Amino acid sequence: MDLNYTEDEVAFRDEVRAFLKDKLPKELSDKIAANKMLTKEDYDLWHARLDDQGYLAGAWPKEFGGAEWTAVQKHIFEEECARAHAPRIVPFGVAMLAPVLQAFGSKEQQDYYLPRILSGEDWWCQGYSEPGAGSDLASLKTKAVREGDHYIVNGQKTWTTLGQYANKIFCLVRTSSEGKPQEGISFLLIDMDTPGIEVRPIILIDGVHEVNEVWFTDVKVPVENLVGEENKGWTYAKYLLTHERTGIAGVGFSQEGLQSLKRVARQEMQNGRPLIEDPLFAARLARIEIDLMAMATTNLRVVAAADAGKAPGAESSMLKVKGSIIRQQINDLARRAVGPWAQPFVSEQLSDNLFHPGPDYAAKATNVYLNNRKISIYGGSNEVQRGIITKAILGL
Ligand SMILES: Cc1cc2nc3c(=O)[nH]c(=O)nc-3n(C[C@H](O)[C@H](O)[C@H](O)COP(=O)(O)OP(=O)(O)OC[C@H]3O[C@@H](n4cnc5c(N)ncnc54)[C@H](O)[C@@H]3O)c2cc1C
Repeated sequence: MDLNYTEDEVAFRDEVRAFLKDKLPKELSDKIAANKMLTKEDYDLWHARLDDQGYLAGAWPKEFGGAEWTAVQKHIFEEECARAHAPRIVPFGVAMLAPVLQAFGSKEQQDYYLPRILSGEDWWCQGYSEPGAGSDLASLKTKAVREGDHYIVNGQKTWTTLGQYANKIFCLVRTSSEGKPQEGISFLLIDMDTPGIEVRPIILIDGVHEVNEVWFTDVKVPVENLVGEENKGWTYAKYLLTHERTGIAGVGFSQEGLQSLKRVARQEMQNGRPLIEDPLFAARLARIEIDLMAMATTNLRVVAAADAGKAPGAESSMLKVKGSIIRQQINDLARRAVGPWAQPFVSEQLSDNLFHPGPDYAAKATNVYLNNRKISIYGGSNEVQRGIITKAILGL
């Protein structure tokens, strides 16, 4: 297997680099480099620039206005964006719902929703998880009862990322209690401004408002908002999850995080010399870097196999586990590298103008460390991924 980029891929990489150099606003890349929260306006601006270039729909099939990027092109795009400190594409509409609508939605749904995802008219959020239904998603209880040409929805979703910005939510709802739990689930598209919907913030451990609870009380949803067939939602939900797990290794983020850690370790002093020269610190850094290089190669192997038509299976679980561990190790070392400056953590520190007594690069070290505890939970927890690896790869 040849893991080097072809001439066309190198040309694509150069094109993406030139675009980022030209169109990525400095205020945005500065915010990302300093680990600041982006506003809805920041994301909207960036999506619009990507859309103008045809990059927002880069991975979509040509028949839906996309560029049908290969797995390698997607990988290159994500890597270059991470390197340039560009915002990530908010995945819920573009990379999660859109593939489901393209594969299973009605023509009317495709014609109406897909252009609105690209134009930014609709901001989608994902209503899968519930209290008591995360890893065991099929046990979800939010109920949709058909009454004439509407469903009446009652229940609660949780961990809804950026739901506070969304005007739409795609939901898994229970439409039947017959048979296996998976057989009574449907996939509904719901307007967030429908009466009976309430969004309540959940503040994460680092003080940010990133996730929410969404409550439904007698919410009326037109039947034409059902995707595909009633009680077949589990099939569509699983299809969406395969898209959620692409790029899960986060190689670009880790590479960028490691470079920034090295910059910090060259400035911080330990016993009269730069921290990066401390043998213990250098050994820890080297260990992570070696793991990251090995994972980047595995990631390329999986990406190259995907381009050769082999759908990634349990390999994506491997990449999820290893990728999240590496990112968390980098965050941990970054926090330790700044020593006592990591201490004055307060959630108000997130505001732009709050005084921080240490160097700027230390201001967010603890926030990032705490916030990224999430990456071994979402997208399927690492314990669950280990279960998949045990069965599918180790055959146990
Ligand atoms: C920051 C963040 C953002 C999220 N965003 C969204 C979103 O936008 N939309 C959405 O629908 N969901 C979202 N989620 C939910 C996420 O998908 C779930 O948190 C995840 O699937 C785990 O489910 P749970 O939290 O219910 O934990 P549980 O499933 O209750 O798990 C609790 C613990 O038990 C372990 N465990 C569970 N089952 C097994 C098993 N079979 N074998 C071994 N160990 C097991 C888990 O690993 C975990 O340690 C988000 C979560 C987080 C943290």
